[in-house]
Amino acid sequence: MCKEGYLMPKKKDALSAYQSKRDFKTTPEPSGKTTKSTLKTSKKPIFVIQKHQASHLHYDVRLQIGNVLTSWAVPKGPSTDPKIKRLAVQTEDHPLDYAYFEGIIPEGYGAGTVMVWDIGTYENIKETSMKDALKQGRIEVILHGKKLEGAYAFIETKLDKMSDKKKWLFFKMHDEFANARKKVTSSQNKSALTSRTMKQIETDKDSKIYE
Ligand code: MN
Repeated sequence: MCKEGYLMPKKKDALSAYQSKRDFKTTPEPSGKTTKSTLKTSKKPIFVIQKHQASHLHYDVRLQIGNVLTSWAVPKGPSTDPKIKRLAVQTEDHPLDYAYFEGIIPEGYGAGTVMVWDIGTYENIKETSMKDALKQGRIEVILHGKKLEGAYAFIETKLDKMSDKKKWLFFKMHDEFANARKKVTSSQNKSALTSRTMKQIETDKDSKIYE
């Protein structure tokens, strides 16, 4: 098989788990079949943290690695205190456009309200590539968000071999932005994109990819 023939389906596969969980006739979430051109040309990789009131409230932390958003569900959300390490369960890769999705997932997988709690760019501070760091289970990045700033780490745990889900710890690293007293998730509860609260997003029923 020619090189292109091998690479094409492989690229598609990256989002197959994401696509198989959703019915794009009923959800306003992006299908991942097309990507906004501005995202393709952006030079710095992006990150997003989406506050997601599904059956349980959690924060979805996503880092652009290659052409997808590598994703973790963090039940308690981020902390600026380096002593606090949050459980982060790795979930399926999401399309890049998802970073700008805010609104309501009406039914099915992930049904509930989604807020873009923080968004920005990040820098890899390890010498390995992000893809290798992901494989090795040790990611260290500097976030440049509207709410979060500074170095954060994701460390894969090997504690639960019975589960099919990869469990990581997500935490603030020591730097000038570390702050043990700031409770970011409760003190900052508005959208980084639209300044709306979860209640306003629910009432507006205006679900789309903002940009
Ligand atoms: Mn979620």
